[in-house]
Amino acid sequence: MTKPAVVWSPRYACDIGAHVFPITKYGLVHQRLLAEGWIAPGQTLEPPPPTRELLAAAHDGGYLDDLDALRWTPRTMRAEMPLTREIVDAFALGASGTTLAAREAMARGVAVHVGGGLHHAYAGHAEGFCYLNDLAVAARAMQREGLASRIAIVDLDVHQGNGTASIFADDPDVFTLSLHQERNYPSPKEPGDLDVGLDDGTDDRSYLAALAPALERVWAHGPRLVLYQAGADPFEQDVLGGLSLTFAGLEARDRAVIDGCRERGIAVVTTLGGGYARRIEDTVRIHATTCRCALEAASR
Ligand SMILES: [Zn+2]
Repeated sequence: MTKPAVVWSPRYACDIGAHVFPITKYGLVHQRLLAEGWIAPGQTLEPPPPTRELLAAAHDGGYLDDLDALRWTPRTMRAEMPLTREIVDAFALGASGTTLAAREAMARGVAVHVGGGLHHAYAGHAEGFCYLNDLAVAARAMQREGLASRIAIVDLDVHQGNGTASIFADDPDVFTLSLHQERNYPSPKEPGDLDVGLDDGTDDRSYLAALAPALERVWAHGPRLVLYQAGADPFEQDVLGGLSLTFAGLEARDRAVIDGCRERGIAVVTTLGGGYARRIEDTVRIHATTCRCALEAASR
C-alpha cells in the first residue's frame, strides 16, 4: 500500500498585511499534522513554481499578463487582497500544489493539499481573496495530461464556488457541486452543475441530510477524480459564515466525501478553502481534521 501524498510549501505564508484571511493557517495545519504524527518528516512534497502554460489552461492570457506585471486593473482589483509579487507567486504556487496533489492522487488514490481551494477566482478576473483558481488549474491539467477526463469538484465551503462554476460551465466532463449558505457572498451566484443553497443557521443534521443526495449526483457523474474544497467556514463560530456546523458535523461531512470516494475507487484530493473562525486554532483544527480523515482513509 502506498502512502498518500501530502503537498505544502512554507512559501504559502505570504505577507498580506492585516487581513481577515488567516494566511498562517497553512503552516499551522502542516505543523499540527506533523506534531500529531499523521505525517512523517520528509513525507511532504513541495510543488514546483507553475509554468505559464499550466495557469493558462484555466485563466485568460490578458489576466495572467496583469498578474505578471502586478497591474491594478478591473481584472485584478476585485481580489480584496494586496497585489504584490510575493502574494501572486504564493497563490500561483498553490495552484501548482493542487495540480501536484491531483497527479499524486491519480497514482496513489488519495492526496492531501495543505493549501488551495481558491474557488472564487474566474478565468479572467480575481475575486474574494482568490487570484488563481487552483481547483480549475488542476482539473484542466489532469485532462490535458490524460490522467482523468471525468472529474468532479465538490465544494463545501460556506460560500458558493462561483469562479469554478463559471470556468467549467461548458465542460460536461467536469461536474461542479457547491453546497453553501444561500444568503452570503457571492451574490448573484454562478450556476454550477448542482448548487444547494442552505438556510442561515443550518445545523449538522440538516447539512448532512442535504449533502447525501448531492453526493449521489456526484457519484452518478462517474468521476475518476474528485477535487474536494473543504472550506472550514460552515463552522458555527465563523465570522464570515452563517451556518451552524460543529466540529463533529464538519468531520462527518469530510468522511462522507472522502470515504464515499474511497468506496467507489475514485481518486480524491483534499484542499483547504476558506475558514475565518473567531479563534484561528479552530480553523486549524477543522482543516487538520479534513487532512487526517484523508490520511486515515488512505491507510484502510
Ligand atoms: Zn468561504
